[in-house]
Amino acid sequence: MIIAVTCIVAIAVIAFVLGVRPKDLPEPEPVSPFQHLDERKAAIYENLRDLQFEYRVGKLSDADYQTTKQDLQKELAAVLAEVDKLSASLGATAAAKPSTAAKKSNRAAAASERRTFACPTCNATFDKDLKFCGECGKPMKVAQ
Ligand SMILES: [Zn+2]
Repeated sequence: MIIAVTCIVAIAVIAFVLGVRPKDLPEPEPVSPFQHLDERKAAIYENLRDLQFEYRVGKLSDADYQTTKQDLQKELAAVLAEVDKLSASLGATAAAKPSTAAKKSNRAAAASERRTFACPTCNATFDKDLKFCGECGKPMKVAQ
């Protein structure tokens, strides 16, 4: 009897430690859009672990174990799908930002490349803003 009670207490303590320890760990990651999903994922993993433990210990029937496990796995799949969706949308916006910036800088580079100075008199073009045309010697007042 004493041995049985000791065993039950030991199992309860182990279950308590297994169930509580992950929650007590401080969250080192900064707040991210994935945090609540990560927390849900961790909670599901924890439940699966507890479930397996309870099943091994004999607290759960085979059917109970299978149905609960399937429910948890379905939930986990949903969370993982959400993580994928979120990372895909974040990846898309993250990829979109540099590409628009690249487009802008390309446009700026193209604009600066096209920035030539044409002589209003003879239409000769120069890449420098000359005071007088190198071809005809007339003043280069109008720049294009
Ligand atoms: Zn000229």
